[in-house]
Amino acid sequence: MATLYVIATPIGNLEDITVRALRIMKEVHTIFCEDTRTTATLCAHYGITTARESFHAQSPSSKIDHVVSLLLSGHDIALVSDAGTPGISDPGSLLVSEVRARTDVMIVPVPGPSALTAAVSVAGVGVSEFVFLGFLPHKKGRQTLFAEIAESDRPTIFYESPHRIEKTLESLVEHCPTKTVTVFRELTKMFESRVSGTPSEVQAYFTAHPDEVRGEFVVIVS
Ligand code: SAM
Repeated sequence: MATLYVIATPIGNLEDITVRALRIMKEVHTIFCEDTRTTATLCAHYGITTARESFHAQSPSSKIDHVVSLLLSGHDIALVSDAGTPGISDPGSLLVSEVRARTDVMIVPVPGPSALTAAVSVAGVGVSEFVFLGFLPHKKGRQTLFAEIAESDRPTIFYESPHRIEKTLESLVEHCPTKTVTVFRELTKMFESRVSGTPSEVQAYFTAHPDEVRGEFVVIVS
């Protein structure tokens, strides 16, 4: 029976990939990628010449039909996202749920990096329990969520983009001024950094360092 391998890939540093992930990416029939250009860089680095096709949030449903039909014809397939573990706040989970609903092929995780676990591993704020929110909603439910973060006894972790980090810090200043915010930026990359303090301290830091309002962010509110 064919297998769909859900493979974690680096979140920045190309060396952060498992030996098993590399072997399977070489062996499968096709690698479905969130962005084929991003995965091309990884494949070039490791001499992986396997065929690649895109699967992203805007892919038509015929793309899922195509994956299902390859699997039903007995071909092993890999799914990777641009960074980290497919299915955590990216389109991977849609493909997995469709394949699960429509076939009885094996769906096998090939674990590895995730921005979530990377941030938790160096947070040092006692995050043995936490609430993960993925990306915060832009409009509907946003205010309620900040009120919940303010009330929560558990650390809250979410992903944030450079376009919204300042707006989010503004909301944290308003809703939970006494919490501690830790912002991890560009984990595993050249300009990796960590800023921690009260919401207004962290907000002041980014106001003073506008060049650091870029890249990728994981935010922990504790
Ligand atoms: N599935 C991925 C994972 O497991 O890490 C996350 C995918 S989500 C579409 C992308 C978000 O993850 C970014 O907007 C950012 O918040 C976070 N992220 C990814 N790479 C990161 C990095 N190197 N440093 C900090 N955050 C990162």
